[in-house]
Amino acid sequence: MDKFFSQTNCDRCGGSLIEGRTMSMFNEECICLNCKEKETKHPDYQKAQDADIAEIKKGNYNFGGIGMKNKVFSDERIKEALAQFKQMQMEGDLKFCPRCGEQRMRDVPTHNCLSRQADVYVCEVCGAEEAIYAMNGNPLPLEYWHYTGLMEMSQAPTDHKQVD
Ligand SMILES: [Zn+2]
Ligand SMILES: [Zn+2]
Repeated sequence: MDKFFSQTNCDRCGGSLIEGRTMSMFNEECICLNCKEKETKHPDYQKAQDADIAEIKKGNYNFGGIGMKNKVFSDERIKEALAQFKQMQMEGDLKFCPRCGEQRMRDVPTHNCLSRQADVYVCEVCGAEEAIYAMNGNPLPLEYWHYTGLMEMSQAPTDHKQVD
């Protein structure tokens, strides 16, 4: 625990801890407040928090967290894939939103919201959320997007010829 208070850089992003530090909810990393803010948007954050609370109730104060999977794809790779996905959006009838995964995309592609983070259309709910996150300077990391999850499971539609 000594290292936690003496270290000067964030375990996750390498940034300075001068603004403050906290323990990750997912693992034992000492992270900056910016990384913490991002972490709270992780789809599994609730699960991580629940597990932590459950362990504390059991008397385990040294729970190491449920772990956080490593980033599989670079932002560039994800953006590339999303740009391809946009081509499919323009041509086909893909109803799911690449950001949240909900089946609520409008039939006319351009009637949805163009993401601020990648060249792709997202649903209205995500569009509104992106605007709020952008105001706070803290966008939802691309690796948390629904589509990225599909890429990781190799289930993402990437070739529009395969879409029926
Ligand atoms: Zn950080
Ligand atoms: Zn959405």
